[in-house]
Amino acid sequence: MKYIGACHCNAVKFAFNADIKEVVSCDCSLCSKRAALMLSVEKEKFEIVEGHDVLSEYRWNTGIAQHFFCGKCGIYVFHQRRSDPSMHSVNANCVDGLDISSLPVRQVNGKSRSTDQQFSS
Ligand SMILES: [Zn+2]
Repeated sequence: MKYIGACHCNAVKFAFNADIKEVVSCDCSLCSKRAALMLSVEKEKFEIVEGHDVLSEYRWNTGIAQHFFCGKCGIYVFHQRRSDPSMHSVNANCVDGLDISSLPVRQVNGKSRSTDQQFSS
């Protein structure tokens, strides 16, 4: 199914195709502070439609995962994972019309994995 979404100020707009079955919550230090609920989307099925120039990048820990947020409103939009660079994690709360409350939440134990290769952030 095709979805669209945006950051809070609408400077960054994105679109993707995915079969959404769950949202992911991670307890690493970054995800817990940004309180993100995420969707797994194949990188090649995800596209930034507007706002490339507004996106800011943040890296931490090993510096491999790339976290992108809107440079105007500060909202986390998506990140490219460290464990699987072919997948993006997308901020489920930025997706238009998605009923998050109807989806199961899968808890990922990122805190304990934040220094090894398994960490999916
Ligand atoms: Zn914004």
